[in-house]
Amino acid sequence: MKFKSSCYAVLTTTTIMGMKNSDNPKVTRFNNDFVHSMDRLTDNLSNNSNINPIELKDKKIGFITSGASYLYLKETLPDASILKLGAIHPLPIGLIKKISTYVDKLYVIEDGQSVIEKEIRSMGINIAKDVDLKKFPDFTFFTPEIIKSKFLVNDIVAQPLQDIPFRLPMNCAGCSHLFVYYILKKYHLKATTDVTCGGLGIFPHINAFTNAKHMGSSIGIAHGFNCANDDKENYIAVIGDGGFWATGINGLINLTFNKGNTKVIIVDNQCIAMTGGQDVPSSRPEYSSSLDIKETCHALGIQDVIEVDPYKIDDFEKDVISSLNRDGNGVIIVKKECLVKFKPEVKGQCTIDNEACLKCKACLQISCPALEILKDNGEEKIHIDSGLCVGCKLCQTNCKNGAINYETIQ
Ligand code: SF4
Ligand code: SF4
Ligand code: SF4
Repeated sequence: MKFKSSCYAVLTTTTIMGMKNSDNPKVTRFNNDFVHSMDRLTDNLSNNSNINPIELKDKKIGFITSGASYLYLKETLPDASILKLGAIHPLPIGLIKKISTYVDKLYVIEDGQSVIEKEIRSMGINIAKDVDLKKFPDFTFFTPEIIKSKFLVNDIVAQPLQDIPFRLPMNCAGCSHLFVYYILKKYHLKATTDVTCGGLGIFPHINAFTNAKHMGSSIGIAHGFNCANDDKENYIAVIGDGGFWATGINGLINLTFNKGNTKVIIVDNQCIAMTGGQDVPSSRPEYSSSLDIKETCHALGIQDVIEVDPYKIDDFEKDVISSLNRDGNGVIIVKKECLVKFKPEVKGQCTIDNEACLKCKACLQISCPALEILKDNGEEKIHIDSGLCVGCKLCQTNCKNGAINYETIQ
């Protein structure tokens, strides 16, 4: 059975009981009977849905896992029996019993603490203890190497894939975060960020930030740096809309109350993109309960608030720099929807003019994954992958040799 959108809505609504909002159909008050009937429904779905796939293969060893650990298991032990949990509540008891009776030994591979494992043990299911799978705080996550080192001793043969190129995480081609990186790097600005898609800018191949910490932390951290530095070295805080509403807003209150001197860039992509595109309080202006980021910043005492569209690159750069140069606290809201969640229509694309290209690689500095180096008869060529390019023109802005053309799609 496939999960339908209405089933997801049921799962969502059961988590937000106690709230009431007549114009938001997702937010309703339920009584206990309703909640129990929903529990039974989700229990049934979890045992019959492809969201929890089960692969019964090798009979000696089996795993229950979820998230990235599943991929590491598949990479390392492709012949093992695996129950992959796409939803961990409620646990699919029927499927868990099925794999536990199918294999001789069953293990739970989960990052962090033993949450799933404890739940399964409490059902009376036997989880093998002969392999030392350390848990938090001694250990936080699995890798293919760890799985290989732990399970090679068993009868099942590990077959790690070979020659996989090392790749660091990247933002999507044309993502609004790339425009923020572009400004920070071009003007050699010091900035803190937190765990968002924008947090990817801390990785060395992008190198846009000096610091990246927990979701919602960047405003407080930038403010702290600026206080400690007597405002000689002004750090900018970069935060996503999800991080802002989660706990970043507290940092903004603190900034106003303490009369700070810190600029905050809020990248408003209208969802929490990194965790799957969930709504935030400003995502749905059609709801009367919706909150507006600009109005909220004003209400919290920040007078200098601007909204900018990164795709209008010239105005974007001018407005951001002039805001950063003004004294006092200020907020720059970079408004562009997440390309993965909202999939806006692509109206044009960029291509490289190889005659004009000097192969200076300046365009690669913007960290757009659509740009690549290809080998042509042993010679390097800069290329734009038309399957990825969304025509945002950021690369064109960064090419001083006029070697990037933009063409509209007919
Ligand atoms: S998922 Fe959305 S916010 Fe995240 S990198 Fe892609 S386009 Fe940007
Ligand atoms: S910045 Fe322009 S000239 Fe330099 S490699 Fe890129 S396309 Fe070629
Ligand atoms: S226009 Fe350039 S920067 Fe924008 S998506 Fe295409 S290749 Fe990437």
